[in-house]
Amino acid sequence: MFRATVLTLFPEMFPGPLGLSLAGDALARGLWSLEARDLRPHGLGKHRAVDDTPAGGGPGMVMRADVLAAALDVAAAPDDPRPRLLMSPRGRPFSQALAREWATGPGVLALCARFEGVDERVVAGRGLIEVSIGDYVLSGGEIAALAILDACVRLIPGVMGKLESGASESFEDGRLEYPHYTRPREWEGRSIPEVLLSGDHARIARWRRDEAERVTRERRPDLGGRG
Ligand code: SAH
Repeated sequence: MFRATVLTLFPEMFPGPLGLSLAGDALARGLWSLEARDLRPHGLGKHRAVDDTPAGGGPGMVMRADVLAAALDVAAAPDDPRPRLLMSPRGRPFSQALAREWATGPGVLALCARFEGVDERVVAGRGLIEVSIGDYVLSGGEIAALAILDACVRLIPGVMGKLESGASESFEDGRLEYPHYTRPREWEGRSIPEVLLSGDHARIARWRRDEAERVTRERRPDLGGRG
């Protein structure tokens, strides 16, 4: 089973949106598990400090390696097979391919930082894999962890109704998805493309493939879609 452990100063942010809809139903059905662990008890001194001023000076605070390592060591045994992810704008870009890889594995451990980030030494010291959800800066890793878990959970076998509705989606084959339509047939003078009403499944499949290629070429030539 896919087990998620999140380390955070704000455990009350979990499951949050992952407690609803598809991910929430799957959580209730026991298809995955989520444990949000508070970093604060591992902090030092009367105030349970988890951060300190940056070596070399400068603004903000840095999360301490010793505090984070203590939290990690309690959360996961050394032989825990799950990847240990550090949410970080400097990390490897998260992708559908990574979501699929992790979704079919034993789960993930996600460390959410705050402030300026973490003491660099804990990354190597605990074998953390830095992961970014995009080229912008969030105020903390929690929303990144929620996004990553959401993308993984929907791919866990049995979570999505139709097995199919995963394979044809955006990014799965280096392409964006074709456009969707539903009733009514006419809306504000706009109609559904005739081909979709033709009942000709081969033609429909061809149209969808062509549309997926066109949209990918126009919007995301960097994806280098196949076909
Ligand atoms: N000073 C850092 C930003 C710190 S933001 C820098 O300039 O790189 C605080 C924390 O939010 C980060 O340590 C990370 O855990 C999380 N975070 C911010 N942006 C993120 C992103 N794009 N992807 C993943 N995590 C992010």
